Amino acid sequence: MPEAAQAAALSATLRTVNDLACWVSEVAFAHGVPREYELRKHTYPHLKACGLGAQAAQHVIKKVRDAYTTLHANIRAGNLGKPKSKRRIKAESKPITFRPEAAQPYDDRCLSWQYDQQTVSIWTTAGRIKNVRFSCSADALKVLQQYRKGESDLIERDGSFYLIATCEVPEAEPYEPDGFIGVDLGIVNISTTSTGYQAAGRGLNRYRRRQLALRAKLQKKRTKSAKRRLKERSRREARHVKNTNHIIAKTIVTEAERTSAGISLEELKGIRQRVRLRKPQRVALHSWAFAQLGDFIVYKARRAGVPVVFVDPAYSSKECADCGHVDRLNRISQAKFACRSCGVVAHADRNASRVLARRGKDAWTAGRESRAPATP
Ligand SMILES: [Zn+2]
Repeated sequence: MPEAAQAAALSATLRTVNDLACWVSEVAFAHGVPREYELRKHTYPHLKACGLGAQAAQHVIKKVRDAYTTLHANIRAGNLGKPKSKRRIKAESKPITFRPEAAQPYDDRCLSWQYDQQTVSIWTTAGRIKNVRFSCSADALKVLQQYRKGESDLIERDGSFYLIATCEVPEAEPYEPDGFIGVDLGIVNISTTSTGYQAAGRGLNRYRRRQLALRAKLQKKRTKSAKRRLKERSRREARHVKNTNHIIAKTIVTEAERTSAGISLEELKGIRQRVRLRKPQRVALHSWAFAQLGDFIVYKARRAGVPVVFVDPAYSSKECADCGHVDRLNRISQAKFACRSCGVVAHADRNASRVLARRGKDAWTAGRESRAPATP
């Protein structure tokens, strides 16, 4: 929450360091992307001459080198396609560039935090500025105070400034679970657990549809302001999904902790392929939203010492949780499950979550046997 003059200094700083990062990137590219030490020899004096302090200059060089490391790792992992693909040629044929408001790392020498006053003192190209106010939730402030460690990133987005701090929160020692909670992910019900919790997707799906309708309207106008509003809208939507996912993850982890249970999650590889959808539903599904929910559950569970296992979800919607009979016909409709063998009738998602719970328990037991020291 910088005042106007402070905001101007921060904005100018980001523009300067990112402009220089683009230049360092060109030098790196021209020299075949040398190691950080050699890249520093080529660029450090010029960065200092441009008014960057020693720390800022080193951060710019490291940021550029790290960006190339990431790019090369992505290429190696095949994330940019085959050697002759368009995307890969595009990525390899020119230097990496940095947006004017891209993140800039700050260490403790360039940035200091006064938690009680909720202010920071931060290096800028116009000198160090003090008493820059920041805001965060009460919980976040506690985490900052206790666990903040290492570098923070300064970014600018839509005219607002954010500091993204790194916090190293210790994890609890995982306990031996007394049973598992199975979590079934779906479109109609975002998540259903074997203990009875159900997060309906209705609200989220309705929100998504409304956003999509508005987006279609905006997309017709190709003006600059329409583009900006589209961007804002998609960010707002992502925040909404994120918030929902946080709430669902917290509910599930708290429940597991309270009952000393573990959590059994579906492996998410290929949820898009696995879930067959009619067209209107397709827009509601975004695999990243499910992957995010999985990530949130995992990190909240690790903090609380709740064991998490990943299981193969294949046929979990067609298998009976009571007798194990697998039959496509068991699933009568989207919501209803009726076993052709033992006759049990259940909510389809609830049945699937119980199947996942059992698989989690089996996976845990199998893992424990393989973890146990071999008897001679
Ligand atoms: Zn059955």
